[in-house]
Formats: sequence, C-alpha cells, structure tokens
Amino acid sequence: MRCILIGLPGSGKGTQAGILAAKFGIAHVSTGDMMRAAIQSGSDLGSRARKQVESGELVSDAIIIGLVNNRIREPDCRGGFVMDGFPRTLEQAVALRAARIHVDYVIELDVSERDVIERMSGRRVHPASGRVYHVKFNPSRATDTDDVTGEPLVQRPDDREDVIRVRIGTYNSRTVPIISYYIDWERSGDPQAPHFVKVNGQGSVAGVRERLSAAVSEVEA
Ligand code: AMP
Repeated sequence: MRCILIGLPGSGKGTQAGILAAKFGIAHVSTGDMMRAAIQSGSDLGSRARKQVESGELVSDAIIIGLVNNRIREPDCRGGFVMDGFPRTLEQAVALRAARIHVDYVIELDVSERDVIERMSGRRVHPASGRVYHVKFNPSRATDTDDVTGEPLVQRPDDREDVIRVRIGTYNSRTVPIISYYIDWERSGDPQAPHFVKVNGQGSVAGVRERLSAAVSEVEA
C-alpha cells in the first residue's frame, strides 16, 4: 500500500495518514513533521526553512524533493507508505514520477475552507511524536496534555488564523493543479498511474476514516 493524501491544510491529512499507517503497518511520511523536526534540531536545513514554515509559505522544491528521496529509501518504507503533505506542487509530483516511485492511490480529502479554519485554530499537537488533537473534535483525555506521555500539547505558530489564510491561498495556487495532473495521468491509461480517489473529509475523524477505508477497498475490489 503506497498512497498520497492531498487536501487543504487542516483537512485531516495528518490524522487520517496516522490511521492508515497503523491499519496497514506502513510508514507515515509527513514532510511538515520533517520540516518541524529540522527546525527544532537547529540544523542548517531547519534554519533555512524556518521563515517559510512559520509564515505558511512553501519550502523550496529542491529541499523537499531531496528530503523525500532519502526518506522513501529508508527500511520502514519498504512495506509501503502514506505520504502526508507531499507532493504539494506540480514540480514535486513530476519529480516523484521521474524517480519511478510507484504509488497506488492519490486520495483527495475534500473539506470546505470554513471548516478548515475552525479545525486548525482548535488544533493542538504533541511536538515529540507528531500526535494531533483538537479541542472540540478529537480532544486529549486531559486538557492540553498528550494521552501517551502526559507531556504538554502546543499550538503550532502556523495554525494562527492569519497564517492559515496564507496557507489556504498557497494550497489553491500551488497544490490544486496536481489534482488534475493525477486525474489526467490515470485517464491516459498508463498502468503505472495511481488511482485517484476523492473522499468527503467533512465530519468526525471516525466517519472520514470509514469513507476512506471504503474508497480504498472499492478500488482494490
Ligand atoms: P504541514 O504540516 O504539512 O502543513 O507543513 C507545514 C509547513 O511545512 C508548510 O506550510 C510548508 O512551509 C512546509 N512544507 C511541508 N511539506 C511541504 C512540501 N511538500 N513542499 C513545500 N513545503 C512544505
């Protein structure tokens, strides 16, 4: 199982990618988490990317493509992966195809911009593990505390409303074009093309998980 999740920031990609990874025993590859880890570690790459990540802009294609090319060759990706946050530009999608990394499914999680703003402003994360909660839709057992470690949860700087609006604009101009790229590729009849599936991403985490599983098994059947 090798798949890509596409959707507005805050569409639930990270949460659903974690669920898919656990269900299929595959790696969860989140370029956003990789960028945040690089920033936190104070690495050279992290300091070059900090400004873009915190202001809601995209990091350069060259940096991201290099990171993903290395990540995908690590042993835990051999049995499959779910990519969350990559590709995010046409250039990245083209680079992935050129690297001949086969992908089974491209799944678009469809949500409205209004919903995304509500979801993101209530989002809380556990920085060390990347676990994601929501104060209303997926609360931790104790307020602002990670269920597994008991450590504090935080709000990411890019989950502030002004930054969210920049990120939505970036998604519409840079990421939406890759949807027709994948639809056209599948229509071309190329057996290497991934299946494109659009899933309604509104509502509860459990509801979206069910629709996602059904969509994937429908294509498999
Ligand atoms: P995310 O958590 O996936 O929303 O990613 C957080 C931030 O990391 C984004 O707003 C970008 O600044 C950067 N980033 C993550 N993935 C990519 C990507 N594929 N291309 C460019 N920038 C990215």
